[in-house]
Amino acid sequence: MTLSSYNQVSIDETALAANYRLLTSRVGESVRVLAMVKSDAYGHGLVPAARAFARAGCRDFGVAEIGEGVELRESGCRGEIFIFLGCAAEQIDYYFSHRLTPVVFSRDDLNVLAEMARRRGEKIGVYLKFDCGMARLGFDPDMAAAVARYCMELPEIEVIGVISHYPCADDPAASSNEAVAEAFAAAIEPFYRSPGFVRSLCNSGGTLYLPETHGDLVRAGIALYGYYPDGPSGRPPSGNPALRPALSFATTILQINKVKAGRGISYGHTYHAPHDMRLAVLPVGYSDGYLRCLSNRAEVLIGGRRAPVRGRICMNLCMADVTDIPTARAGDEAVLLGRQQEQTIDADEIAGWCETISYEILCALGNNNERSYHQSP
Ligand SMILES: *Cc1c(COP(=O)(O)O)cnc(C)c1O
Repeated sequence: MTLSSYNQVSIDETALAANYRLLTSRVGESVRVLAMVKSDAYGHGLVPAARAFARAGCRDFGVAEIGEGVELRESGCRGEIFIFLGCAAEQIDYYFSHRLTPVVFSRDDLNVLAEMARRRGEKIGVYLKFDCGMARLGFDPDMAAAVARYCMELPEIEVIGVISHYPCADDPAASSNEAVAEAFAAAIEPFYRSPGFVRSLCNSGGTLYLPETHGDLVRAGIALYGYYPDGPSGRPPSGNPALRPALSFATTILQINKVKAGRGISYGHTYHAPHDMRLAVLPVGYSDGYLRCLSNRAEVLIGGRRAPVRGRICMNLCMADVTDIPTARAGDEAVLLGRQQEQTIDADEIAGWCETISYEILCALGNNNERSYHQSP
């Protein structure tokens, strides 16, 4: 791209690698850390993020759909690539041609995979997904023995491991965690004696807070991007090793607009100037992932100070109050997520303003803006 946007997402590859290393040191040498790079690596860019993790030693990657897996493989990724959401029957070939690993949650999919393997004269290794508490995808743990027998009858299918997913691992005190771990133990019972068998239950929450259930492979998403699954409360006290947010988002002030006391600001006039004001007009709106629910709630960083967003966020524009930042000029940098001088706004703070989670903020900003990559000290 030659004509670059005002709005730039910047990704710190050093932080991604450091987060991977922090997690591997937490889980110990016998546990693999799979990097969840679905949804364009939570807004950090599928291929560059996977490369940053690979350079730090990662060999296992997870995506939602098979197209993401194909893209990752064709980018040169040599690790194991897990496809978590299956695929349409006519796409099954890609598992074989691109050496992708299916995570299977239905007998139909086992049949289709076995049939394709038979036709190609190959075997295929799969992970079986059990539903131990999400009420989402997976076989019923009560049916584990039957599923195991079913797989035995499909010689082309080799069960490499069993996977499940915690609904509440971000809260180590949640009462459901124990029941989930017990259901998981029941799900692996018919399988676990086979050599090299892989058990995987933990997302970032389980990885950080439920170490006794790490099994053989943990699947980390949000933690690799520098955030705690339970938000700011998960951050350790300063001085302790902590995950490092990797994504920042900045723009350029388009114009400074002087507004008289009493004037309504932006669509719907949801804010009226209580006094004469100076507004910085920013070329950022909800189409750039700066969610409209941040209207009248968010703050941005200008001149190293916090400037509150006033009025509704438009599709491509929003306004920040710089009455108290008299040096602010058109062309100056405004940071919406990240650090400017002594001030920092992180994705947890933005999520708090609009009652969501850091995950959604990272995806929204990261996947709707130009990204560039850098290393840090
Ligand atoms: C997204 C995802 C994860 C990672 O979750 P985080 O909370 O981001 O660590 C793990 N496992 C599965 C199956 C997922 O879909």
